[in-house]
Amino acid sequence: MTDRSDTLDDKALDEALAEAHLPALLMSLIHMTGDASLLTKERWPEYVLMADGKLGGYSPEVQADIRARAKAAITAYMEGAPLPPQPSPGTVRRMMDWIAGVDIPDQYAAFLTDELHLDGVDNNAPDWSAPTLKAAAARMKVIVVGAGMSGLLTGIRLKQAGIDFTILEKNADAGGTWFENIYPGCRVDNPNHMYSYSFEPNHDFPQFYSTQPVLLDYFRRVTDRHQLREHIRFETTVEEAVFDEARAIWRVEVSTRDGRREYLEAPVLVTAVGQLNRPRYPDIEGLETFEGPSFHSARWRHDVDLTGKRVAVIGTGASAFQFVPEIAPKVAHLDVFQRTPPWCIPGPTYHHDVPEGVKWLLKHIPFYGKWYRFWLFWMLTDGLYESVKADAGWNGPAEAVGEANAELRAMLAEALRAQAPDRPDLLAKIIPAYPFGGKRALVDNGVWVAALRRGNVDLNTTGIEKITSAGVVTRDGALHAADVIIYGTGFHASRFLWPMRIVGKGGVDLQAVWNGDARAYLGMTTPGFPNLFMLYGPNTNIVVNGSIVFFSECSVRYIMGALKLLAETGSQTMEVKKDIHDAFNVKVDAANAMMAWGSPGVTSWYKNATGRVSQNWPFPLVDYWNATVAPNPEDFVLKARVKTPA
Ligand code: NAP
Repeated sequence: MTDRSDTLDDKALDEALAEAHLPALLMSLIHMTGDASLLTKERWPEYVLMADGKLGGYSPEVQADIRARAKAAITAYMEGAPLPPQPSPGTVRRMMDWIAGVDIPDQYAAFLTDELHLDGVDNNAPDWSAPTLKAAAARMKVIVVGAGMSGLLTGIRLKQAGIDFTILEKNADAGGTWFENIYPGCRVDNPNHMYSYSFEPNHDFPQFYSTQPVLLDYFRRVTDRHQLREHIRFETTVEEAVFDEARAIWRVEVSTRDGRREYLEAPVLVTAVGQLNRPRYPDIEGLETFEGPSFHSARWRHDVDLTGKRVAVIGTGASAFQFVPEIAPKVAHLDVFQRTPPWCIPGPTYHHDVPEGVKWLLKHIPFYGKWYRFWLFWMLTDGLYESVKADAGWNGPAEAVGEANAELRAMLAEALRAQAPDRPDLLAKIIPAYPFGGKRALVDNGVWVAALRRGNVDLNTTGIEKITSAGVVTRDGALHAADVIIYGTGFHASRFLWPMRIVGKGGVDLQAVWNGDARAYLGMTTPGFPNLFMLYGPNTNIVVNGSIVFFSECSVRYIMGALKLLAETGSQTMEVKKDIHDAFNVKVDAANAMMAWGSPGVTSWYKNATGRVSQNWPFPLVDYWNATVAPNPEDFVLKARVKTPA
C-alpha cells in the first residue's frame, strides 16, 4: 500500500513529472480519476527515439496537459482521495494498446494481462491449499541445482506450495551469474525494471540498467525475504545424479566444501544451472605458455592491477563490450583481438541514473510502475522479432535475412558510422558483415567505440596465430607483447548441464544421449529421464525479445503444474513421450533455420558443434507463455505410485 505521508513538495513533484514516462503517467491518471475519456487521439503516443534517449512524440501542449492533470490527481491522491472504481477489462485492453502505441493483436491479450497483473495478485504463485494437494505436497521433495535467478525462483514457488526442497549451490552465496561475473563494468543489458521477478518489483533500482552489485543485492534480498537460505546448501557441487528406477528416486552425489562426498535423494530433480556458467577458454596454441597473469572475464582477478600495463583482450562479445571501456583509460596499452564484431543497438540511457522523482513515482503513484514495466515488456517482447526473421526465398545480400532485417541493419550501421565518421579504418572493422540478430546485439551508448578510438587502444582483426610467453602473435607474424591477457571468450553454453553426470532410466547417461546436441521438450524435459526438469535448458534462450526472468517464470509455472499433475493423478513419475519431444524439436529446428541466428554464415554460442541452434527459442514470446500455462497430461507417460508391500 502506498505511503501517502511520503509526499513531495511542489517543486520536486514538478521535477518528477518532468522526467515521467508520459504514457505510463496517462495510464496512472486514468486509474486515479476513473476518466477513460482521456484516451483521445492526440494522446496516442508516437514513439520516437530522441537524441537525449527519451521517447518523444507528444506535442508540448499534450505533455503539459498530461503533467498538469497528473499533478492535480497525485496531489489529491496523496491528500487521501480514494481511488475511483478501477477500469473495466475492456478499458484496460484499450489502455494496453494506448501505451504500446499499436493495436496489440488479440493473441497477446491474456499473456499481457497476466504480465500486467493490475490486481496485484502474483498470478503464478501456486495454489496447493486443497487438502489433497496439501497432503501430496507434504510427501514431495525436490532437489534444485543452482541458486541463481531461476533456482531461487523455483525455491520461492516450492515454498509457496508447501513442498520440501533443497537447493544445491556450488558458490558461496546465491545470485548465480551475478555472483560470478564481477568484471569491471558488468551490468544488466536488459532494462532492470523488467529484468526482475514480476512479483518482486524494485522501485529503487539506481539505474535503468543497474550494475552487477545492484543485481546481486536484489537477488540476495529476494533470497532473504523468501527465507530461502535455510534451504540452500552453499559450496556444494553436484557431481552426479542417478535415477533409481526401482524406487523412482533421484540419487544425487555432491562434493561438499570440505571435499567430502555425500548423497541426497528426492523424487524430483530440477536443474537451474544457466547456460552461461562454465567459462570457455579459446583453443589457441601456446595459451598455457604465457608468463604473465591471464584470466577469463567470468573469473576476474581484481588482485591483478591493470594500471599502466600492456593488456591483451581476446573476444568482443557482451562481456568484453562492457569491460573494455572500463579498463582502457587505466592501462598503458590495450590490444583488443576481435574475430567478429558485435551488432550494437543504440541505448542512450544505458548508464543513466533513474531520477529520484521517477523512483518516487514508481513507488507511490497508483499503477505507474506496473504500466511502466508493461511498456518495457511490450517494447522488448516481440518488438524486434519480425526484424530477425528470414523472408522465405530471400535472395538479397547475405548480410541480411530479409527486407525488415536489411532495413534495421542499415539503421544500425548508420548509428555506428555516426560514431566514427573520421575513421573509415575503424568502421571497416566494427560494422558486422553478418545479419543483425545473428549474435547477441549489445546496448550501445557510445562508450565502446569511444574506447576503440583511444590512442592507447588497438582493435586487431588479423586473427590470432598463437600465444607465447610474451604475448599474442597474429597471423601476420607480429608479436603483440602483453603483461596480462584477458579472455572474453564466452562459455560452454551448448554443453548443457555439463560437467554434471545425469543418468536416467536403464543407466543411460544424458550427455551420451545428447552427444553434443542437447534437446528437450519446451526446454525442460527429455525422454528417459523421469521427473527431471531443466530451467534455461535447450532452446530457451532469447535473442532480441524479452528477458530470461520472464522465461524462467513461465518454466517454473509449468514445472509447478507438472508437480500438481503428479499429485492429482497419484502418479509417481512423469516422462515426456518421445514422439512429442521429437516433433517439438523438428518444429524448433525448422523455425530456427528461418531466424537470423540460424543462417548458415553465422557462428555464435547459439549453435552447438553440430551447427544446430541448440540455445534459442525461435518463436514469439507469447508462444512460450501459452505453451507453459500447464503441462498437457497427454504429452507425458505418467506412472502410478507403486504400493510398497506392508
Ligand atoms: P560471447 O558473446 O560468446 O563472446 C565471446 C567472444 O570471444 C566473441 O567475440 C568470440 O568471437 C570471441 N572468441 C571466442 N573464441 C575465440 C578465439 N579462439 N579467438 C578469437 N576470438 C574468440 O561471450 P560473452 O561476451 O561472455 O557473452 C556471452 C553471453 O553472456 C552474451 O551473449 C549474453 O547473453 C551474456 N552476457 C550478458 C551480459 C549482460 O546482460 N550484461 C553481459 C555479458 C554477457 P566470435 O564472435 O567470432 O565467435
